[in-house]
Amino acid sequence: MQSTMQDVPLLISQILDYGTSVHANAEVVTWTAQGPRRSSYAQVGRDCARLANALRSLGIDADQRVGTFMWNNEEHLELYLTVPSMGAVLHALNIRLFPEQLVYIARHAQDQVVVVDDSLAAVLARLLPQLPDVRHVVVNGPVPDDVRTALGASGAAVHDYRELLDAQSEQFDWPQLDERTAAAMCYTSGTTGNPKGVVYSHRSNVLHAMQLCLPNALGVAQGDRLLAVVPMFHANAWGLPYGALLAGASLVLPDRFLQAEPLATMIEVERCTAGAAVPTIWTDLLRHLDEHPQIDTSSLGRVIVGGSACPPALMRAFQERHQITVLHAWGMTEMSPLGTVAVPPSGVTGEEAWRYRETQGRLVPSVQARLVGPDGSAMPWDGESVGELQVKGPWITGSYYLDDDGSSFEDGWLRTGDVGTLTPGGYLRLTDRAKDVIKSGGEWISSVDLENILMGHPKVKEASVVGVPDERWGERPLATIVLLAGEELTVTELTEYLAERVAKWQVPERWAFIDEVPKTSVGKFDKKAIRASYANGLLDVRSA
Ligand code: ADP
Repeated sequence: MQSTMQDVPLLISQILDYGTSVHANAEVVTWTAQGPRRSSYAQVGRDCARLANALRSLGIDADQRVGTFMWNNEEHLELYLTVPSMGAVLHALNIRLFPEQLVYIARHAQDQVVVVDDSLAAVLARLLPQLPDVRHVVVNGPVPDDVRTALGASGAAVHDYRELLDAQSEQFDWPQLDERTAAAMCYTSGTTGNPKGVVYSHRSNVLHAMQLCLPNALGVAQGDRLLAVVPMFHANAWGLPYGALLAGASLVLPDRFLQAEPLATMIEVERCTAGAAVPTIWTDLLRHLDEHPQIDTSSLGRVIVGGSACPPALMRAFQERHQITVLHAWGMTEMSPLGTVAVPPSGVTGEEAWRYRETQGRLVPSVQARLVGPDGSAMPWDGESVGELQVKGPWITGSYYLDDDGSSFEDGWLRTGDVGTLTPGGYLRLTDRAKDVIKSGGEWISSVDLENILMGHPKVKEASVVGVPDERWGERPLATIVLLAGEELTVTELTEYLAERVAKWQVPERWAFIDEVPKTSVGKFDKKAIRASYANGLLDVRSA
């Protein structure tokens, strides 16, 4: 029996139309050196129509890729909405990647137009000679003449974003697309290998945006003023631009002002109610708030933390000292990205609630999961059996763009490369990435567990644990430690601290005090870099 329901495709243009009319008065605030720059969703809607006309005039009339090389700002939001809605494909380039990786990615995606922020134009100009597909560069903001000349040197036409839009009509008929066509693409940041391309569809992005607004997920709602720190080039911006437009939540976009001090000012001045970023951002903010107790963060109810494991000590400090709830979430570029959110079950309070909040979270609806053991068998959801997590769902990729060797998929499931446990209630606890697990004498040591405990030490700012070769055990943990400014600790003190909290055989023999844990392009601990430093003898390794 066929349903009687209308078969209306799910399209980003619906989010655009809906958000900019129904929630016309919601705000988009972009931070600048002079403070906030304000716009409304209504204004954004008009700009989107102009932008679509402008891109058409540059020859974007089908599924060409439009790249962005930008911070989080109003114009980037307009591109997020416009490019897919007009039938083209948005490709947000990760501005922090090495030049070779950027060239690889932009060529792989065949970006034809790149929109660039003025503050990043000089960097893009250096890449353009190697990007023959790029025919047009659109600059957001004023740039000096020499930078403009450099942008045009390799033959691309150079335009000014606002001038281009000013010449256009505010009317644009968004095409009726097939919901399965490409809307946007994103490359993994390459934490554990070469960047791989994922292509989102209209359908996947709309469904993902809807679930973002569920109270059991991120609960994005009207009245929220969302500080979106997570870069728009990281993992589909966590879906926040689309979720915000659907819900009518205002967006506060920090542009290039990502340090703790301006973020704290944004929270205070803009009365932000929620924020989203990787743990390193919140670690810095916590310290800043601790040092400046006069800053008013009373509006900020919750901050969403994902991208890497959030140390429980960080969550508790925010809650206890600042009454801010840290909402732990897990996801992947390949998953649009949201997979789990650590909202405790109803009725659970106190320490029991903390046990749920410290997990990566509960599977959100439509994300199916299975745990696969080392011998390929399915592991039970008992909260104890450890396996590799595999996932399936309407916003999870089924392949990688162009060069897919199939090794990341099994019977239609995406192999996440993450290792952990699931409870009968669907709460995921990750112990590691498969590549970061430390195999010591046939036993697995969780680097994440050791890091979380070490970062719970009151004198430790950051701790990263990696496996290094060991003659006797095959592999042993090496702990790299960053102490808080002015603090001192010995290896013996750290060893004793750990020994009270984990099995003795898990305590590292190798320790190094460093100034800062190296970070990836999206702010995660860069374990590849730490392992390389160790292999090249660049660390001052001390033993217990
Ligand atoms: P990359 O793979 O390049 O780092 P992603 O940002 O897509 O790019 O990374 C996804 C991975 O990040 C996940 O597979 C997982 O290993 C890690 N991750 C994301 N969120 C969490 C979390 N809350 N806890 C632990 N690991 C996380």
